[in-house]
Amino acid sequence: MSLQLLQQKLPEVRAWIDLTLAAYAAQARPVADFGFTRLGSYYSAALLASAMAIPVAKVPAPPLASMGLTGFDEFENLNAAGITYLSSFFVLHGYERDESLHFHELVHVVQWKHLGPERFIMAYALGHFLCGGYDTNPLEVMAYVLQSAFDHHAPGFDVAAVVRTELDRIVPALFARASTGL
Ligand SMILES: [Zn+2]
Repeated sequence: MSLQLLQQKLPEVRAWIDLTLAAYAAQARPVADFGFTRLGSYYSAALLASAMAIPVAKVPAPPLASMGLTGFDEFENLNAAGITYLSSFFVLHGYERDESLHFHELVHVVQWKHLGPERFIMAYALGHFLCGGYDTNPLEVMAYVLQSAFDHHAPGFDVAAVVRTELDRIVPALFARASTGL
């Protein structure tokens, strides 16, 4: 596993994402249409109108191993209740009304937006590798910490602003560490 190999495979990962989202386009609904009452205290109306949720029986994960990217077995076999690609996220049937899960995936939507697709994928993969897997990936830690504040009814705040500030602090350090070898 190397930074170069990952960079080389980015177009393949992007192509898989675009195909997957296109395949589910008919089932995608704006988060704003789900009738949640609390998300509006944490996210802008524009974000809630543009972010799309797609209910599915199994959340799709990119076939990284078959693309030659090894070491992501844990990620590929996660069976997560939600997963985000660009400004869309998949949610397992039964979790469509789970406002906390939507909150979590929206953190990832903001991360994708702020970093841009290539940099998000690189940062997410580097976080996975350098920090010891899914649970300790800084991009996931950020989402779980903010979700926990939401779950504990923290007073409303601008989540996107916090995410952007945190990313600007964390991501350059990840890339710096990666450049010295994985
Ligand atoms: Zn997550």
